[in-house]
Amino acid sequence: MLKGTGLLRQQNEKRALSFLRIHRTTFRLEIAEALGLSKNTVSLIVDKFMREGMIKEIGIEEQGGVGRPRVQLSLVPEAYKSIGILVQDTQGQYVVTDYCANVLEKGTIFLNSQNVNECLMQLIKLCKSLLNKHPEVLGIGVGIPALVDPDQGFVYDSSHLGWKKIAVKEILDQHLPVQARILNSVNAAALGQLQVIPEEDSSSVFYIRIDEGVGGALIIRNEIYTGSSWTAGEIGHLSVKNDGPICSCGQRGCLESLISIPAIKERIAQNDQAIQFANWPHINENDHDPAMEEIFRESGKYLGIAAAQMINLFNPKYIIIDSPFSRAEAFTSSVSKTAGERALKVPFEQTSIIHIQTHFSSAKGAALAVILHFESDLRG
Ligand SMILES: [Zn+2]
Repeated sequence: MLKGTGLLRQQNEKRALSFLRIHRTTFRLEIAEALGLSKNTVSLIVDKFMREGMIKEIGIEEQGGVGRPRVQLSLVPEAYKSIGILVQDTQGQYVVTDYCANVLEKGTIFLNSQNVNECLMQLIKLCKSLLNKHPEVLGIGVGIPALVDPDQGFVYDSSHLGWKKIAVKEILDQHLPVQARILNSVNAAALGQLQVIPEEDSSSVFYIRIDEGVGGALIIRNEIYTGSSWTAGEIGHLSVKNDGPICSCGQRGCLESLISIPAIKERIAQNDQAIQFANWPHINENDHDPAMEEIFRESGKYLGIAAAQMINLFNPKYIIIDSPFSRAEAFTSSVSKTAGERALKVPFEQTSIIHIQTHFSSAKGAALAVILHFESDLRG
C-alpha cells in the first residue's frame, strides 16, 4: 500500500488525469493553477504521462513576445480504454470506450441469464475477446438490473433476472486480468448525465428513468449516492396517489405503478377510445390524440409530485428525466407545472429540469464508472 509522498504523487497524477479528461487540451501552467500544484510537480507528472503515451504535445502558442512560448498538451484518449456491459434477460449490450467515453466498438451478445454461472462465463468470454483487441482497457463495468453493493460487486437480488446473492465481481476478477466494477443498471445509466451537463457543473443531479419500471439515482459530484443498503434514489416507490393501484412492492399508488411503460400501456388498453401511435412508446412531436394527451398530462402530474419531493429533500441543481414521453409536450409541461406548484419556491427556481430525448446507455455509463473510479479511488 502506498503511503506518504508516493500516495500524494499518485493522487496528484489522478487529479491531473481527470483535469485532462475534462479539458482535453491544456498547458502545464493551467494544470498547476487549476490543481494548486507547483510547476515542478506538474512538469514531473506531464513527463510521466508523455512517456506512458497518455498525453502529447500538439503545438506551441506564442505569447505576443512576452514570456516564453507555451507548449499545448493534449490527452491521447485511446491510451486508456474501458469496457461497459448491460446485462439483460436474454442479451448483453456492450461498448468499448476510450478514456473520454467515446464509443470505439459496440455490440450485443446472447446471454442466458436464467443460468447465472453460464451467463457469467459468457460475459468472461466476451471480455477476454475484447481485451485481446483492446489491451489498453483499464477495467470492466457491468450494469445489472439488481440490488447491488458496488463496493463489493455483490448482487443481492434481481427479481428481473432471478439472481440472488451472487458474488459477480469476485467471479469475474478470478478469470480476468483487469478488475470488474458492478453497478445497478439505472445507476450506471445515470452517469450519462455527463453528456448533458458540464462535468465541472454536475454538483448535484437527480436522475429519473421511466422504462419497464421507474428508477432514479442521486449523483453528487459525479458519484452515485447508493445509501447504506444500496437503494437510494428508488423514486419509483414513492407513493403519489393514495387510492392508486397496488404496486409490486405491496404499497398503493407508487409512481412506478402509475407511469412505467407497462402501467401506461394498461391505461391505454382500458381507454374506450382507440389510441394508436405508430411508434408507441416513442412519441413524435406530431402525434396528437386528446385521450393520450390526457394520460400524458396525468402522468406528468404524478412525476411532478415526486420531483417536487426530490427538490425539497435534495435541492439538486438538475433533475434529468429520461423517459420515452419526453417529446410529448402535455407530459413535460405537466411535470414542470406540478413540481412548481408543490416544491418550495427557492429550490424549485434554482433547479433545472431537463427532459432528454434519447435513453442514456447503461453500458456506456458502466464503462464511464470504471474511468471515474480509476480517478477517484485514491482521493479518499
Ligand atoms: Zn412500489
